[in-house]
Amino acid sequence: MRKACPLCGESGGISLRKPFLVCRNCELVWNTDPTVTRYVQPSEDTKCIDSKLEEFQNLTRMDMQMILSRTSLSSKKKVKILDIGCGSQALLLCHLAKNLCGEFVGADYVTSKAISQAKRNGVRLVDLTYDNFAWTKETNNCDLIICSHVFEHLVQLRQFVDQLRESIGKATFFGAVPMFSNSEWSVLELMDNPEHIQSFHEKTIRILAKILNRRLETLIVRVPFDCFFQLEGGVK
Ligand SMILES: [Zn+2]
Repeated sequence: MRKACPLCGESGGISLRKPFLVCRNCELVWNTDPTVTRYVQPSEDTKCIDSKLEEFQNLTRMDMQMILSRTSLSSKKKVKILDIGCGSQALLLCHLAKNLCGEFVGADYVTSKAISQAKRNGVRLVDLTYDNFAWTKETNNCDLIICSHVFEHLVQLRQFVDQLRESIGKATFFGAVPMFSNSEWSVLELMDNPEHIQSFHEKTIRILAKILNRRLETLIVRVPFDCFFQLEGGVK
């Protein structure tokens, strides 16, 4: 049983229905059953640069436009973007960003075939299969770190957040997570998605920003679907 909140560490979560608890501090909802708290590896056909790319296209274009309109990056000539958990979107994001992107690095569980395909298109892919934190070597001089639909999958949530805090530097951080502002909905979402082991609330994002020592610049909630958040600068 994972009784302490995997994000803020608060103990004594409120039981919603077994095996789900909600944190009374940050309102994270998590699955306490250790037998299901494993990240389910994507199947071969959902790995990077695959036939499903088209399906992501509309959503991704919207996301990219939102990122660009909400950051000052569009005024910079060349930027370095790191996309942690890039999934199928690495090539498309690079294509959309190529006018401003000096360097685009994607990180995910990827095949060697995907790595070479990406390389031919000017994208560097980091394979996380053997080292979940291999992306930390790519955060130097990053202007933007994207982390879209990643946090809900992480078994080592706090370890990931701590690594991020240590390596984020001056980068703008852009995140997206499934968003269920009602705890009961969060439980239903977690029951429906065996690959998701925790679910978020607006308050969770505010506490995440505090742990990362970053200012929450933007929080756009699209209940009950998901939420975008943008974090800037160090907060004293
Ligand atoms: Zn918590």
